Amino acid sequence: MLDGNSVRDRILSGLQPRVAALAAASRPPGLAVVLVGNDPGSQIYVRNKVKACAELGIVGHTLTPPAGIATEELLAVIDGLNRRPDIDGILVQLPLPRQVDTRRVLLAVAPDKDVDGFHPMNVGNLVAGRPGPRPCTPAGIMELLRQYQIPVAGKRAVIVGRSDIVGKPMALLLLHAHATVTVCHSRTVDLASVCREGEILVAAMGRPAMLTADYIRPGAVVIDVGMNRITDRAEAERIFRGSPDRLATLERKGSVLVGDVDPDAMRQKAAAYTPVPGGVGPLTIAMLMSNTVSAAEGWQ
Ligand code: NAP
Repeated sequence: MLDGNSVRDRILSGLQPRVAALAAASRPPGLAVVLVGNDPGSQIYVRNKVKACAELGIVGHTLTPPAGIATEELLAVIDGLNRRPDIDGILVQLPLPRQVDTRRVLLAVAPDKDVDGFHPMNVGNLVAGRPGPRPCTPAGIMELLRQYQIPVAGKRAVIVGRSDIVGKPMALLLLHAHATVTVCHSRTVDLASVCREGEILVAAMGRPAMLTADYIRPGAVVIDVGMNRITDRAEAERIFRGSPDRLATLERKGSVLVGDVDPDAMRQKAAAYTPVPGGVGPLTIAMLMSNTVSAAEGWQ
């Protein structure tokens, strides 16, 4: 089992001396998180990000414009943050309310403060293998593979999902690390047989426990990015047939988290795998901190 929490802890302890050096030389790094509206899920994510900043000595600023904000007003907020010398990183928590033009807002973030790595300029930097922020979740997965010394060069990697925040950047990072990469999506024909080619299989579809034993090559390294909250007892019983503790979580909390890969199948067929929770999840915030520190240092 690949332990995301311990990888996160090592990433964060590697950042501590860099934060201290920045603070000693001028000022600690600063991260601005823009949270529009009152979405409870987003509020939890933002709270966790700001907490991680505080623990590391990064100054976290939370801005909470009202849910009814217009695109132009939000652009003015971003412009103000772009100009502030004490802010090294800007993160706009998604999703934004419907009336806001998300693309324009993300485009307005200065590329050197774009700690999510979503700006088209940084997407280009990623494609070209130039320095710059990499999207946090796939960057965290690369760090996990590196820390566990899992070879990537020459391996067949299969990614299921082609989103801008996970699937596509994951494909590019694995390609730069010399894997032979296949990217699958909802139109892929005979998905199971394509997945079975993967010596490294990355699941990022947002479909609870969809990849069953049929999709996993024996001895594969399986990275489960999915984070699906399920509330249905029958569905939970089917997925967690061998894990009474997870069913107990459902009883206690009213919901339980499941990845995109069937947990039993993953345990039985994979040589190594990330659990949900405790696998990929903890890495995302750690890489956000890493990107913020790199932004404060000036991308090198
Ligand atoms: P997304 O934008 O909804 O993209 C999902 C992708 O999966 C799409 O490319 C879609 O194909 C593909 N897909 C959907 N159903 C499929 C099917 N039945 N067969 C094959 N492909 C299918 O999702 P995302 O933002 O990348 O997130 C994916 C999952 O990762 C979610 O569960 C999310 O919560 C989780 N996540 C976790 C973290 C973390 O920190 N652990 C971070 C980000 C995301 P099409 O393009 O053809 O529609």
